[in-house]
Amino acid sequence: MSDRFFDSLGTADYSSIRVPDGYSCCECGAAGCKLWRPYQTFAVRLRCLPCVIKDGDATVSNHRLHSIGWNVAAIPTVEGDTYWGYTSSPQDAVDWWDRLPFHATHYRGVRTCVS
Ligand SMILES: [Zn+2]
Repeated sequence: MSDRFFDSLGTADYSSIRVPDGYSCCECGAAGCKLWRPYQTFAVRLRCLPCVIKDGDATVSNHRLHSIGWNVAAIPTVEGDTYWGYTSSPQDAVDWWDRLPFHATHYRGVRTCVS
């Protein structure tokens, strides 16, 4: 896995809707919004809602959209060095993610998707 990406992710602050520095969609650069990551992989392939859904195979399996197809909510640990497991995220981290908007508030430079 890419340590360099984790270094640049920054630190999560669950008390706000601030997102870590590196928390942006790797396809379109969407930032300031909910992001998903592939389920059960170590690949750091963060994607926004439009990019996840355009895959076509995505089916919404949960009304809070914690999982979409093979993608799950990307919830960084407070150190920002990795992501919580789908079922092991602490509640304050889940609450933080739930407060994020579904769509980008701004765009960052597109980073290369790590797959
Ligand atoms: Zn995107």
